[in-house]
Amino acid sequence: MDAQPSAAAAQAKAPSLTIKPPFDTLVGQPLVARFFTSAIESRVINHAYLFVGPIGSGKTDAARALAKALVCKNGGCGSCDDCIRVTRATHPDVKVIEPEGANSYINEQIRELIHDTNLAPIRARHKVYLITRADLLSGSGANAFLKTLEEPPVRVTFILLARTRESVLETILSRCQVVAFRFVPEVEAVPLLMDESATTLKDARIALATAGGSVYRARAFLRSPSRRDSRLKVLEAVERLPQADPLELLESARALLISLKQPLDELKLEQERQLVEGKEYLSKGALTALEQRQKRALTSRERETLVEAFGAIRSWLRDCLLVRIGRQDDLVNTDFHYNILKIALNTDEAALVRALRAVDEAERRIHYNVSVQSLIEALLFTLRDELSGAGHKLSTGGALGAAVH
Ligand SMILES: [Zn+2]
Repeated sequence: MDAQPSAAAAQAKAPSLTIKPPFDTLVGQPLVARFFTSAIESRVINHAYLFVGPIGSGKTDAARALAKALVCKNGGCGSCDDCIRVTRATHPDVKVIEPEGANSYINEQIRELIHDTNLAPIRARHKVYLITRADLLSGSGANAFLKTLEEPPVRVTFILLARTRESVLETILSRCQVVAFRFVPEVEAVPLLMDESATTLKDARIALATAGGSVYRARAFLRSPSRRDSRLKVLEAVERLPQADPLELLESARALLISLKQPLDELKLEQERQLVEGKEYLSKGALTALEQRQKRALTSRERETLVEAFGAIRSWLRDCLLVRIGRQDDLVNTDFHYNILKIALNTDEAALVRALRAVDEAERRIHYNVSVQSLIEALLFTLRDELSGAGHKLSTGGALGAAVH
């Protein structure tokens, strides 16, 4: 735990507790969980926190848990109307502030935020502002915000999120209590996932590998039948590649696109529920903001689904490499064991390393304005060439070890 003394000691009393706050759902962050459980129990909550840590370390979950503890009459029970609204981002006293500019918070947003802190809460006795990208607070908008951040009205708590402490302006940093989240290593993450999701060792390892090591994404993957189904479809398509002719390959890309859209339907349903709830309490402006946030969430979920597909392919290719170097006992995708063995024995390390690089390159291109269809088609063609031995023979140097680990 990394705690800095705050500039102002404006502390607010948290509501009295009857039920344990929901920090026990915070995976792999025992120090953070203990810190907040004790802060809530002693009813001493700071006016501004900055959560720093890598993607998937649980900052957003922790922010929601803290918000629940502050607005729920039962100290964050997780099941009352207030708590459910915090989870769904429709609580009128818990506001999520995301940058509206391309790469920054716009001044208008900051002005509204400052103004809003002075209004009384609507449902709860406390107001919470969750600022999702503290690293994008800069310029005159950030300067205008400093005074409010230092001395907000009573019963207002700011929770700022950033990946690293260095990315945040010193003037912001010095006004917050910094809470550090750590990356959860696989050896801890797997048992946690098994325990929490009542799943097998095999499925927990698959989920974590597909989620690129993020415990939170792995948890969401385990809970979503459509995401698990997408992984199966992706890997089935990849294992058929060496024999596929161009037409079959295009058909395969088309089928993949359809299956990758399935998880988006789950989010769309959830968003419709959010809007219905939002209409009860949110002003017209806040509803428009919610709709914009939902659009961004859809785009980001679409990207996440693709990243997950690439994560699954990467993990499958690493398994092929493990076979090549005689470590087949360490395979992650054991449900594809037979074909991994077959393909691994018909290719070589250099081709597999090039295939892994092609996946990395495709993932990098997600962030450019390229069509998902052409991205998938191009990747499948490259993978087919590499896995069938038709890829260019390039020197791979010492990349093999780095690719496996
Ligand atoms: Zn509650």
